[in-house]
Amino acid sequence: MDVLLKNHFFHQSFRQGQEEVIRSVINGRDTIAMLPTGTGKSLCYQLPAYILEGTILIISPLLSLMQDQVEQIKARGEKRVAAINSFLDYEEKQFIIKNIHYFRYIYVSPEMLTNNWIYHTLSKLKIALFVVDEAHCISQWGYDFRPDYLEIGKMRKRLGNPPTLALTATARKEVREDIKHYLFMNNPKEYVYSVDRPNIALHVEKVANQNSKKEKLMELVKQLKKPGIIYFSSKKMADDWATQLNSIFQGKVAAYHANIPQQERILLQQQFLYNKLDIICATSAFGMGVNKENIRFIIHYHAPTQVESYLQEIGRAGRDGQDSIAVLLFAEDDIYLQKQLIQMELPSESQVDYFISIVDKLDSSNKFDLLPHLQQFIPEPFSEVQLRILIKFYNQSVTITKFKEEILQFIQMRIRHKTNKLYEMIDWIHSSTCRRENLLRYFQESKTIELINCCDICGLNMERYLETEKHDATNDKLNWKERLQQIFT
Ligand SMILES: [Zn+2]
Repeated sequence: MDVLLKNHFFHQSFRQGQEEVIRSVINGRDTIAMLPTGTGKSLCYQLPAYILEGTILIISPLLSLMQDQVEQIKARGEKRVAAINSFLDYEEKQFIIKNIHYFRYIYVSPEMLTNNWIYHTLSKLKIALFVVDEAHCISQWGYDFRPDYLEIGKMRKRLGNPPTLALTATARKEVREDIKHYLFMNNPKEYVYSVDRPNIALHVEKVANQNSKKEKLMELVKQLKKPGIIYFSSKKMADDWATQLNSIFQGKVAAYHANIPQQERILLQQQFLYNKLDIICATSAFGMGVNKENIRFIIHYHAPTQVESYLQEIGRAGRDGQDSIAVLLFAEDDIYLQKQLIQMELPSESQVDYFISIVDKLDSSNKFDLLPHLQQFIPEPFSEVQLRILIKFYNQSVTITKFKEEILQFIQMRIRHKTNKLYEMIDWIHSSTCRRENLLRYFQESKTIELINCCDICGLNMERYLETEKHDATNDKLNWKERLQQIFT
């Protein structure tokens, strides 16, 4: 296994959990693996491809995520990888079908899995491993429930219950129970590792208003050790800040979000990876496929809408084990934006009506091809997640009236659930006791070690996270104490 790791993945050693999970998978056990962000979950199914006989089938929730993974596999010299999703044209589909046995890895989106044509193609294969990536999407208790994930278990059965690996970075116990249940897993081995990342210090900076937030961000970015990522909830703000910061950091800053074309996104990831860029101004679209070891800071200009996302995003720092810091900036009125974001994740009632008016006109004999059709016809920007939800409910409803009734009910329920999750995040921001302890408690864990640099409540030695080189004359004149005061007052 060590040889495979070196030859195919260019790593010298396994990270925490990887080897155990891989052994379980090779032994043909159904396996649930919860590995914290940054431990390289994808290796757990990519390496067994060189040991097991047959194809590795991976179910992945989003097109961008799938594309990232495919590119990464190709980048390490493995060409036997294909992705089946609704956006392939007829010729691409035919090519994959004809050569289906050639591929070592096949990525499939959940809606394609329920397509009969895909099912017949896949059923000809010996599936060595059935992988469900982001498996928490299957649970209504999870933060990112995707109704089309509920079909995966049935498809797994139809494919003859191949050995299954469910992967997630953050899932509370009730979510893991749902994963087992809905995937019909057979006495699975569970590998659950602590979500704690002791080398990442946690700091929350409460600011009086949006203006002082801007000032604070500027100070932080100037002084913290780089490279780093700044997360924004809005694409426009990510763009604006990237432009503004570039004038200070001479082109070493870039914006990254869903509106940036795929090819450019890959290029940005590479530039960041090879230290050509120091700072990425990103939305949550950034990070999944990024394996950069030396990220020193994560700043949240906007708080995520749930603790799980926060944990995943800060987890991108300090993969090399070195000191890193996560700073969250918070103004009381941020909550309005967060509530709006929750609403926007789901289709609005007018979007539902619009969807109905469009599908009524469409003469689509194959409903599974609705996704690309709709993106073509719908001028309003529907997100991929919104469309997937609409299509799932549309396909399962007997009448349009029922469809509308059911989907609106679902949307209400999700908004309630997600608002509760938002308040859990806000509660954490207002913690009066150790932040790490509270974060761990949320995941039913307890703090086992006392850290010297834990969080702002326990007390942090900020010097460790600041640039030691002094870039300009003003900084030269200040001593450490003054510099610290400048940043955290
Ligand atoms: Zn603490």
